[in-house]
Order: sequence, then structure tokens, then C-alpha cells
Amino acid sequence: MKYIGPHVSIKENISLSAVRAHELSATGFAIFTKNQRQWKAPQLKEEDAALFRSEMRKYGYSPSAVLPHAGYLINPATPDEELKKKSLALFLDEAGRTVSLGLEMLNIHPGAFKEGTAEDGIKRAAAMMDEVMDQVPGIRIAIENTAGAGTVLGSSFEELDMLLSSIRNKDRTGFTLDTAHLFGAGFDVKNDPDGVLDAFFARFGKEKLFGMHLNDSMVPHASKKDRHESIGRGLIGLEAFTAIVRRRETDDIPLILETPDETLWKDEIRTLLEAAAD
Ligand SMILES: [Zn+2]
Ligand SMILES: [Zn+2]
Repeated sequence: MKYIGPHVSIKENISLSAVRAHELSATGFAIFTKNQRQWKAPQLKEEDAALFRSEMRKYGYSPSAVLPHAGYLINPATPDEELKKKSLALFLDEAGRTVSLGLEMLNIHPGAFKEGTAEDGIKRAAAMMDEVMDQVPGIRIAIENTAGAGTVLGSSFEELDMLLSSIRNKDRTGFTLDTAHLFGAGFDVKNDPDGVLDAFFARFGKEKLFGMHLNDSMVPHASKKDRHESIGRGLIGLEAFTAIVRRRETDDIPLILETPDETLWKDEIRTLLEAAAD
């Protein structure tokens, strides 16, 4: 089964996200667990979490088809003590929300190390991820690869590997591969998507691919930039996405569209589901 769908809004009530995904004929989807621009949010009410879980069941979404994205304020690699404290608190809160919603995985960016060495940043990020997994049983962490701007970690498989190696809860840690970030980081995901995935599987194994973000790119290959474009309208092109969704390794994991034009989502989902079924 291919779990393909967009990152939908949680506006008004988080349970509406499942309805929104269903209306687009999505077979999977992503959400933020709370307003992603704020450090603090009102507690998730159990009645809202229960409603979300029942809407998931109603529309046939299994927990493995849904990949919540942790807020962008969290920087697991930060050297700043104050920001570290706030990041950990929010990360723990979001992991708790994820489990309350009946979900299992939380997508997170590895963060930026800002000063000093990348190795120190990797150690800090690994420690924070372990702390979250120690404190929140039932959560698995999907570390998202990045385009690698500035001191942002996670733009190479070597760095992702170093991060995974530094984490104690390895069996609960995996990766989300974002195609636009791969492209920005210099992977040839346009001409050789199979080769990029094969290199990932050779290093980490198939079971470490927890999900993917399927985004075309507005910005050039190896630009270290991250600007998403609708599927088939950017510099990566539809052919690469067709190859990706046809891989057996992308069965039964969330394949999320973070593409900018909501009016195209329904078509993008249909195109990708058809390509996968061919
Ligand atoms: Zn992301
Ligand atoms: Zn992404």
C-alpha cells in the first residue's frame, strides 16, 4: 500500500486534518501537532485526541500512514542553554501529543550547530533525541535530511549516520528523506533517484526509511537551498517521483507532499498513486 498525501492543516480542530486528507483522496498525510510558530500551546484535550483517533479509523488511516512534523522552533543541536531547554520541552510535548493522537512517529530536523564543530552539534542532537525517547515510550523519531544551509546538520548520509551512531535508542530511530532537500544537498535525485535510494539502503537498511517527503524543487541542484515546488513543475521532474513511488521500499510508509499549491494536491496525489500502481 502506498501512503501518499499532503501536510494538511489542523486549523479549528486537529481531528479535521483526517477529514481534509480524506477529501483529497489521500492515503496518508502529515500534520503539525500544534501551532508550529509558538513555543507554548494549550494542552491537547483528551476529547480532541479521541476524536482524531476515531476520525483516523473512520477514514481508514493507520498510524503508519501519518507522519507528524515537529515544529521548526526546535533545534536539537543548539549550543545555547536557554534554547536547548525550550527545545527539549517542546520536543517532549510534541512527542507526547503524537502518542496521545494514536500515532507512532515524529519527524524532526536535526538542527543547526551554530558554533564549534559539527561533531559537537551531532552529540547534542543525539542526546536530546535519546532524552525524548527515554521519556516518551512508544515514540519513534524520524530524522529528516536537510539541504545543508549554514550550520544545519543532516545534509549528507555520513552526517545522518554519525547522528544515528550517537543515539542509544537506535531501534526507534530512522529517517525521512525529503527529495527537495536531497536535491539541494547535491544528491542526483533527478537523474538517478534509484541510485540515491540504493545508496541509502546500502548504508542504513530498508527499515530505516521511516518516511519520505515528496517535493519538487524551485532551486538548483546542490544550491544548499530549500524551496519546494509542486510535483513535476520543478527542477526534479515527475520521472524521478514515478521511480520513487514504484520502489517496493516505499510501500507502507508515509510519502508526504509538502508542495506549495494546495489546489494541485488532489491531482498530485492521483498522479503519484497511478504511477505507483502502473
Ligand atoms: Zn521538514
Ligand atoms: Zn520535508
